[in-house]
Amino acid sequence: MADTSIEWTQRPGTIGAVWNPTTGCDKISDGCDNCYALGMARRLKAMGQAKYQNDGHPVTSGPGFALTVHPDELGTPLTWRKPRTVFVNSMSDLFHARVPREFLAQVFAVMAETPQHVYQILTKRPERMPQILNDPCTCGVHHSLMSHRLGRALPLRNVWLGTSVESDKHAGRADALRDTPAAVRFISAEPLLGPLPSLDLAGIDWLIIGGESGPGSRPMQIGWVEELIGKARDAGTAVFVKQLGKVWAGSGKGGDWSVWPEHLRIREYPAERVAVAA
Ligand code: SF4
Repeated sequence: MADTSIEWTQRPGTIGAVWNPTTGCDKISDGCDNCYALGMARRLKAMGQAKYQNDGHPVTSGPGFALTVHPDELGTPLTWRKPRTVFVNSMSDLFHARVPREFLAQVFAVMAETPQHVYQILTKRPERMPQILNDPCTCGVHHSLMSHRLGRALPLRNVWLGTSVESDKHAGRADALRDTPAAVRFISAEPLLGPLPSLDLAGIDWLIIGGESGPGSRPMQIGWVEELIGKARDAGTAVFVKQLGKVWAGSGKGGDWSVWPEHLRIREYPAERVAVAA
């Protein structure tokens, strides 16, 4: 039984899960306008949940949503015996500038120690990923400080790294992702707010597409989805259409796969890359 209903964690043969070693965040781009986690944190604070008692900036964040690290959460995946597909930080952004490097190293150490799980990390701050993972080491053995710290080569085979590209002005986030060592590189075009003519999918293994749902959601056009699917097919990128958002909101069926046009019912997973560098 899955611990979460997030569609892209439901990989065959694994249990879908979430892991939040940090909570809280700050809005950084237009895809954050209706941040689900921000509203959820406000409710969790009101319910007295211990992890959600730090208030963030009233403009960029909110009640219970200040960026907070949780060292006591680090060991949670070590207790999971059956393989899980883990969405890391459904309630935060792991590469937020205020997550200390040492804490990031501890998160990666846990992932390295639990190869039975696959970890999916999605950020709107992809420029910090190569800064953290490619920082050179002078030991003469390891290429990067992170691989030295972990005592093993990067990329970790069970860690998928992704970035959100919700509108064309953020297409450049894919470049930072390409600069990052990862077993799987993925882009989440959700909530898709417009066409993405500038998006380059070279070297990108997986493309998730989704509209916006919930109060105040902005519409997504089917034509934008079709263009992205075509682009992914040309690049050899696996496609996962998560939901159709407000396009189908009138019927309330944006998340109901069974009523979608047949050519949009695509839920593929990527094949992991095998090249590993020390
Ligand atoms: S980056 Fe993600 S978690 Fe942070 S405010 Fe934006 S949508 Fe919310």
